[in-house]
Amino acid sequence: MADLNIEIYGSPVLRQKAEPVQNIDGKVQKIIRDMFDTLHKNSGLGLAANQVGILQRVVVLTNPNTGEVMALINPEWKEIEPEKEIGEEGCLSVPGIFSKVNRFRKIQVTAQNVQGKQFNFSAESLFARIIQHEVDHLNGILFIDRLSPTRRFVLASKLSRISSNGDHE
Ligand SMILES: [Zn+2]
Repeated sequence: MADLNIEIYGSPVLRQKAEPVQNIDGKVQKIIRDMFDTLHKNSGLGLAANQVGILQRVVVLTNPNTGEVMALINPEWKEIEPEKEIGEEGCLSVPGIFSKVNRFRKIQVTAQNVQGKQFNFSAESLFARIIQHEVDHLNGILFIDRLSPTRRFVLASKLSRISSNGDHE
């Protein structure tokens, strides 16, 4: 079991764009196994590779409808309907902060699995929210970026405390 170190808000790797995975080899599969372990140990719903300091387009998450864990390699999504939904989010990389975020309610997802096979599925509500949150990570975006300026202002001192308690002491 490998428990990877989680990058905390303030760490530059959370602001970088992850690269597409070209070869899904043993090395990538090992990263995914370690990410599953890390997700479980931290009781998270999802984890993107940036959060463990790896700039590859890999996400692991729990399907909240079935409890199944899944790996998404090179995931992409698009909305099926224009409707958005507001729901509370938190993030292992932004500990102690929870806030309401507006996301598409229903999305279509394409990704590769650990065998490199492409698959498609649709997701809605919380499941769709987790995927949108995790793919944001791969693009260097955090959920706090999607809050209103007022809400961010309210959280500003908490956020600066988190970033100064991060990895950079
Ligand atoms: Zn997150």
